[in-house]
Amino acid sequence: ATPTALMVGTGRGAQLGILIKGPEVLESTRRVDTVVLDKTGTITTGRMTLQEVYVTEDADEKQVLRLAGALEHASEHPVARAVAAGAEERAGVPLPSASAFENVPGLGVRGTVEGHEVLVGRARLLEEAGVALPDELAAPKTRAEEDGRTAVAVAWDGVARGVLTVADAVKETSAEAVRELRALGLTPVLLTGDNRTVAASVARRVGIDDAFVHAEVLPQDKVEVIKRLQAEGRAVAMVGDGVNDAAALATADLGLAMGTGTDAAIEAGDLTLVRGDLRVAADAIRLSRKTLSTIK
Ligand code: ADP
Ligand code: MG
Repeated sequence: ATPTALMVGTGRGAQLGILIKGPEVLESTRRVDTVVLDKTGTITTGRMTLQEVYVTEDADEKQVLRLAGALEHASEHPVARAVAAGAEERAGVPLPSASAFENVPGLGVRGTVEGHEVLVGRARLLEEAGVALPDELAAPKTRAEEDGRTAVAVAWDGVARGVLTVADAVKETSAEAVRELRALGLTPVLLTGDNRTVAASVARRVGIDDAFVHAEVLPQDKVEVIKRLQAEGRAVAMVGDGVNDAAALATADLGLAMGTGTDAAIEAGDLTLVRGDLRVAADAIRLSRKTLSTIK
């Protein structure tokens, strides 16, 4: 009866929009007591758009947009796409091309545009290059982050010139999903490479406790967060969508990939939530518990 019940569970999963790698996956789902959620693309839609543009007194807004947009054009990151598309639209002229482009995972991009050495990304990317953010840019950056928008700093030739903000909406179903996961006895945890303030704002909106927010985590360190939770004796499920989440999905006791996400995440996960609806993560846990109690 055991394999049959598992097969039935797998079939029921497909009806719910859950693709299960193998019937044995349902078994690892049973022990899970902690669910780690990626922010961008998992709790939020991941469809970011350019919002505000702040520039220093002596910088030209159009120039900030042109150079930042030119560089971000070469990146696939959701933040980069928002910057490139917004810059092209607002600058009203075609973007110049970039050379010596380099992607700095979890921090941003750098490269050469029209002879300028350009940096676009987190304030930390600039700091690491010895470029400070002046107060006139730090203040709007903080304000935007407190509202849950991601700030993107722009510098060239060693001087910070502007801050752009991009916004991404929390999915309508995310708060409900977190409530359901909690009702199943799971502890929800937020894991993101984004800024602490932005992460706290999103966590508050969906009902994740501040003590369980891990922000500004570099892509290679996401795995360490999972391992630390496991070392505390937790059985960890991870839900993610990005290339950056693949290693964490593979390390978790149970990896759930958003079907709307990248192939790398889907390949690394044990389950795929086909429609990218986080509530289905709760359905998956419920299904596996029900299937396994049928076997017992
Ligand atoms: P997440 O964990 O939220 O999916 P990432 O680890 O990919 O995010 O990136 C972390 C943060 O680094 C982003 O929120 C953004 O602030 C910044 N960042 C990464 N890549 C870029 C880029 N190409 N342009 C601007 N900012 C970037
Ligand atoms: Mg993501």
